[in-house]
Amino acid sequence: MTSVNWLEETNKRKEELIATTQQFLQIKSVLDPESVREGAPFGEGIRQALDFALGVCEKAGMTTKDVRGYAGHAEFGQGEELIGILSHVDVVPEGDGWSTPPYAAEIVDGRIVARGAIDDKGPTMAAIFAAKIVMELGLPLSKRVRFIFGTDEESSWQCVNTYFETEEMPTMGFTPDADFPLIYAEKGLTDLSLRQTLESFQSLGKPAAENVEAKLVSLQAGLRMNMVPDKAIATLAPIGLNSEAIAQSYRQHLDATGLKGKVEEQDGLVVLHMEGVSVHGMDPSKGVNAGTELIHFLRTLSLDERGAVFVGLADRYLHKQYYGEALGIAHDDAEMGALTLNTGVIEYDEKQDALFRLNIRYPHSVAFEKWSAILAERFSEGAFSLEVAEHLTPHRVDPNHPLVTTLQRVYTEQTGEEAGIIAIGGATYGRSLDVGVAFGPLFPGRPDSAHQRDEYIFVDDLIKATAIYAQAIYELAK
Ligand SMILES: [Zn+2]
Repeated sequence: MTSVNWLEETNKRKEELIATTQQFLQIKSVLDPESVREGAPFGEGIRQALDFALGVCEKAGMTTKDVRGYAGHAEFGQGEELIGILSHVDVVPEGDGWSTPPYAAEIVDGRIVARGAIDDKGPTMAAIFAAKIVMELGLPLSKRVRFIFGTDEESSWQCVNTYFETEEMPTMGFTPDADFPLIYAEKGLTDLSLRQTLESFQSLGKPAAENVEAKLVSLQAGLRMNMVPDKAIATLAPIGLNSEAIAQSYRQHLDATGLKGKVEEQDGLVVLHMEGVSVHGMDPSKGVNAGTELIHFLRTLSLDERGAVFVGLADRYLHKQYYGEALGIAHDDAEMGALTLNTGVIEYDEKQDALFRLNIRYPHSVAFEKWSAILAERFSEGAFSLEVAEHLTPHRVDPNHPLVTTLQRVYTEQTGEEAGIIAIGGATYGRSLDVGVAFGPLFPGRPDSAHQRDEYIFVDDLIKATAIYAQAIYELAK
């Protein structure tokens, strides 16, 4: 423990910290394609916010560098090793319904209310002031400390990708862009498509189905891979059964299961609607997938050969298979949790492609190559081919790494609370660093207002986070 009282040092600079944070938040740093130019790849607002952050650092005595407006950095200290602090200056659009103007940064009931207050401009300024404290106290450092400011964290992460093409990767570091105490592990994230074209289905040479009750004309569910679909719609052409019989069977199914939906007849076709419950695809078991529920009903009908293959595979491998059990890819990790499977988008068109878009998140102890090969194999039975739209590998820092243990100790010393470490199914900016964790700014028990209307940070939390970051920077770089 150092003899510095970090909270007291922060309080001495409280007024300046609050005022500077407010000014920073008053810049509307939303992605703006209209004002893109050389040096401002994401528009003027973000460019201004980057200049503002670099300006505060420069004034504090750090050396700064602008990487063509994609990112910037500010550095102090000396030594071989480099401690990185990665944050972002862009914000998501404000949306409607705010109680105070989203870029006024007014203080209401002890909170600074503004878009970006908690994500991520408030904590960015807290970390900069934390560094100012270390510098102003003239504490000796044996390492360099570098702030890296990203500019499109909220869209495509081109900022950090571009930055690290040419700039040094820190030895270790943290991002103040998630939760306290500390996130040390993040699952691998994949967005996958399983696609069957009409031609590839025909190449299977399936015999025509017999005793067909209905032909599947089309099916659509969901818009995003990382959400559980709350609406699905299927169109059937009655063949062996008449429309009324299909409609009645569907109504009975809804009654028996308690699911919500309706059925319509249009131009001799039967249109089935299913309602589900949308939740984030990170934990699909908490929602109700309208798409696979509708498919589960369709499975009770005798369909045409292509419809039957589509519905059969989906019902068997995807319906209520939140962990990939039936596929044989289920894998639980004591530390990082289970592999999760979300069927976010389902499309079928009798004349075009059939498609499942999946979001699969997996712990570090199972290889992508292993489970994805099994998935591809299972669906190849139905002439589906696997396409990888997005793949972020699992990210994990050893829980015994000094980065983790130091930040845990600092958190406990500053808050008096135990610092449990967290593994998550999502992605934080921490994974942009080779050895990186997320460290704050949201304290346990605080509701997360990021991306919501009336986004805020408690002034007290801003102060507390600054004190924590100050000690953290010193302890990591001393
Ligand atoms: Zn963020």
